Amino acid sequence: MEFTREIYWNVGHGVTTLAPMYLLALAAVSVLVYGAFRRIRIYRLGQPLKRSDQPAVRLAAMVRNVLLQTRVLRVKGPGVAHAIFFWGFVALFIGTSLIVVQADFTHLLFDVVFLKGTFYKIFSIVLDIAGGAAILMLSGLLVRRWIVRPQGLETKRDDVIMHSLLFTILLTGFLIEGARMAVTEINSPLSYWSPLGLVVAKGLGVSMTEPSLLTLHRGLWWLHLLLAMLFISLIPYTKFRHMLTTSMNYFFADRGPVGKLVTVDLENEEIETFGARQVTELSWKDIFDSDACTLCKRCQDRCPAFATDKPLSPMKLINRIGEIAATNPAMDLIDAVTKDAIWSCTTCCACQDICPASIEHVNKIIEMRRNLVLMEGEFPGEEVMAAMEQVEVNGNPLGMGYAARGDWAEGLNVPSLADDPHVDVLYFVGCYASFDKRNMKVARDFVTLCHAADIKVGILGKEEKCCGEPVRKMGNEYLYQTLAVENIETLQKYGVTKIVTSCPHCFNTLAKDYRDLGLTAHVESHAVFLAGLVQEGKLPLRPESFDCTYHDSCYLGRHNGIYAAPRQLIKAAGGHIVEMAKNRDQAFCCSAGGGRILAEEKLGTRINIKRVEMAAATGAQTLLSNCPFCLTMFEDGVKGANVEESLRPRDITEILVERLSG
Ligand code: SF4
Ligand code: SF4
Ligand code: SF4
Repeated sequence: MEFTREIYWNVGHGVTTLAPMYLLALAAVSVLVYGAFRRIRIYRLGQPLKRSDQPAVRLAAMVRNVLLQTRVLRVKGPGVAHAIFFWGFVALFIGTSLIVVQADFTHLLFDVVFLKGTFYKIFSIVLDIAGGAAILMLSGLLVRRWIVRPQGLETKRDDVIMHSLLFTILLTGFLIEGARMAVTEINSPLSYWSPLGLVVAKGLGVSMTEPSLLTLHRGLWWLHLLLAMLFISLIPYTKFRHMLTTSMNYFFADRGPVGKLVTVDLENEEIETFGARQVTELSWKDIFDSDACTLCKRCQDRCPAFATDKPLSPMKLINRIGEIAATNPAMDLIDAVTKDAIWSCTTCCACQDICPASIEHVNKIIEMRRNLVLMEGEFPGEEVMAAMEQVEVNGNPLGMGYAARGDWAEGLNVPSLADDPHVDVLYFVGCYASFDKRNMKVARDFVTLCHAADIKVGILGKEEKCCGEPVRKMGNEYLYQTLAVENIETLQKYGVTKIVTSCPHCFNTLAKDYRDLGLTAHVESHAVFLAGLVQEGKLPLRPESFDCTYHDSCYLGRHNGIYAAPRQLIKAAGGHIVEMAKNRDQAFCCSAGGGRILAEEKLGTRINIKRVEMAAATGAQTLLSNCPFCLTMFEDGVKGANVEESLRPRDITEILVERLSG
């Protein structure tokens, strides 16, 4: 016998079925399209931004992320449940579409039936499993949302309506199948290809007569159709619009280097305002992002500011932008989001990194900071304003005279390029390693390591200025560009082609941001540079065993994906790393990024103390890092956490220099 089934069984395939069915579908799609256009009008309130270059690459990224649920799966538990639910739902959607295509087109017009034989058996079992998996995963997600209620997971009206609809659609699907099978397939070998449907069929079959099964089937069939069309029509009006917008956000995602900011054209006299005070001064993509948000709260869970009771939730910030754009675009965005929230960000990028919807949080915060600083002259505190003034006068935020910038290298035989431009690499030292006593030791150790590897290293000395990263992240684009242009001119004057930095903030700025202003030299972080020397056998080390924990700085880790090189160095020195629970791309910030190194931490609890406590919990006695800001924050943090005696913060260079042989 040929395995197949009668489509439109019990409801009929005549005009009395097809006409209302297609009219309902048309109405649902029309309401959806109307809603989508209304949303597009809201996105268009934003400024232009080109996000359609490299369309093939973007499309491939979108298809990959949607089909494989790559970003969703980065968080286990709910991520896995959502992915399985999604795949099940997609299979059901495709299956239902095939049924309609056969019944109303290929069979009707060309007498072609493809849902038969072996294909139909596979089709049946795939859909049966897909439906079962979808209903199981959705149940799990509903239990999480309604019973477990994880902290911070907000349940709104949209969730009640759309989750109820989804659950009922899936449930009625199984009941329809069960009722049909109870009448037509219960003793047929075909029934084994729909095992879950068979269970439902048996359950219904024992308790209902055939006429009541027919009535139940017909009623549920229409209810199922009605609910499915209602669901489709509601998509653009609820947070379930993310079914479309999140997918599209993979296409529109920033394809540039992670966290790279837009360089403002300060020469353009047509620009009247800088940064964003209203949503209309953000880009269309910034508004679109809020529609792509699934309210999964992953960003909030990872945010160091939120975790230390500061008034910043990246999730709420993104959604506030969307609410304002949709309801009152003229509203003062900064007042709505609050200045305290805006200044609390450390630009650690943990939110962006984990966001399943490829939403860009940091640039929005920087745009608001730019407006506060460039248009209003506002800073988060007097100390920040004072630091900026010091940067303007002396080229560093620490208030030290610019002429003393190279003094840390006294006696080390490190030429400044003004004296000898013929060096292997230019060491861009940065302000903290130049002037802060604790970090000056790191600079000296780095040079000692270079010399041990027979590398001739030079510096700019008093000609070097702050790279401008902290002031830029604080919103002072003007001062940043002034510093950057001066540094680039100096580097170009000496024909520098290779730069090494021991500050990840300098590294990120020179390697990414300076490109917009003309720097072409190769830039490396000291961790990668030293790991290369070890690998090439140029750094003679005598490993000594020790236990430590290692902190991935945000700007080497999440911003630049450098996780292996520092660990290779620690291993080469004989170190055994006891990893903190939050490591690599999940590392918790030290609190100093985003220009926060210049500001006092007045709100909530201290981020650096929390991170030091995580390090202390490993039981290791050494906390290694690779960043002058981190080292500064940890030296302070061990005191605040009362672990000064048991945990010693150190830079990787320090343990390497102690193990130099010969
Ligand atoms: S960049 Fe870091 S501090 Fe800023 S909102 Fe995102 S997670 Fe929070
Ligand atoms: S912004 Fe991204 S990570 Fe945050 S709640 Fe929305 S979808 Fe989730
Ligand atoms: S980022 Fe920091 S350490 Fe690097 S140059 Fe600027 S202020 Fe100095």
